[in-house]
Amino acid sequence: MKRSVAQMMGRRGFLRRAAGIAAAGFWADETIEAYQQNVNTNSKPSDLKITDLRVAVVTGAPFTCPLLRIDTNQGIHGLGEVRDGASETYALMLKSRILGENPCNVDKIFRKIKQFGWHGRQGGGVSGIEMALWDLAGKAYNVPVWQLLGGKFRDRIRCYADTEMSPDPKEYARRMKERLDRGFTYLKMDLGIGLVAKTPGTLTQPLGQTPRDVFMTQHMFTGIEVTDKGIGMMADYVGQVRDIIGMEVPLAADHFGHIGVNSCIRLAKALEKYNMAWLEDMIPWMHMELMKKITDAVEVPILTGEDIYLKEDFIKLAQMHAVDIVHPDLATAGGILETKKIGDACQEYGVPMAMHFAGTPVSCMANVHCAAATEGFLVLEFHSADIPWWDDMVEGIDKPIVNRGFIKVPDGPGLGIRLVDEVVKKHLHPKKPGYFEPTDQWNNERSHDRLWS
Ligand SMILES: [Mg+2]
Repeated sequence: MKRSVAQMMGRRGFLRRAAGIAAAGFWADETIEAYQQNVNTNSKPSDLKITDLRVAVVTGAPFTCPLLRIDTNQGIHGLGEVRDGASETYALMLKSRILGENPCNVDKIFRKIKQFGWHGRQGGGVSGIEMALWDLAGKAYNVPVWQLLGGKFRDRIRCYADTEMSPDPKEYARRMKERLDRGFTYLKMDLGIGLVAKTPGTLTQPLGQTPRDVFMTQHMFTGIEVTDKGIGMMADYVGQVRDIIGMEVPLAADHFGHIGVNSCIRLAKALEKYNMAWLEDMIPWMHMELMKKITDAVEVPILTGEDIYLKEDFIKLAQMHAVDIVHPDLATAGGILETKKIGDACQEYGVPMAMHFAGTPVSCMANVHCAAATEGFLVLEFHSADIPWWDDMVEGIDKPIVNRGFIKVPDGPGLGIRLVDEVVKKHLHPKKPGYFEPTDQWNNERSHDRLWS
């Protein structure tokens, strides 16, 4: 076993000498830092303090994902990630609230900052910091995060693969067949009204309405309903895909378009014969009674959750049986422990937890530790099967990260990964701050944040 300088010299002696030398101005700061990197500080987690929070925004993974690094007074750092497509500001505005805290007090810090998150991308800052705290706690105590969560239920995590859509069902099926050949055991496709919109007689909608009118309008307010012809074409599209990939592999569908509740029900009924794994986000998640109406009307699993922040609304959905499966995105939902709580709570109502995910390997491993430690877990999304450099961003775990459709649960401390600087640097967003540049401008952000008087 490799021994650190501190271990060889005796920790106290080393620190005394290092401090003395530093005081004498004999060594440059870099030299001291270099020594600190080899110091085993795992024996002093009670003195661990957060000293910095910095970001590096990766793009093309396939989405834009801000990575976080939380530094400490003991030379170890934690990695986290803000939700894909969210602003790094959501994390940076929390820097002043976590400086000086002991990162091992994960739940305490989470409760302090959770008021600054919200649904959708706004949950990204709180969730990303929570991931980095777990990474630090694991490194400080020298155990994997799944162990800190209570141990694991499985050694490998099943992934479902997204596939880039083609308007030609034969081509789309070919792409999905290629996923099967790569070993994936679970598939998801997009099945939007865009597939039929150019064919006359498929959609009924306010004349002259543009996609722009519809984009920010919730489904039940667009006035769009699908005709029998449109529903027949969409169902036939799935049928052609099923002809090629077979009936055995689970096949979920997403991105139906902003169509009314009754069209959702008619479309879902037409898809029953294809035994779909689930139909995702047919309407916005917060309309729970309407979601339940769809769920009760059709014999296909209905799912939602990727935009929900914190456990409470998931529990409501599960209690009502408004969905068959919940689908939190850990980077919106509140992080690793909150997502485990979601899975555990929904399990009580017989509702399994699939996990939405579209980030880098950092957030991916946060998902893996959570999935390993949550009994009611079903399957984890993998959105980057076509990004060749995705694996190369990190080291310390088995490659390929997703191997024959599964991710091995790592045994290293914390999340179990290290960033490969030169790879991440090649994929930084050109208009965002550089690679973990100083963020001192966020050190003193203050407000009177108490939620009550
Ligand atoms: Mg989705």
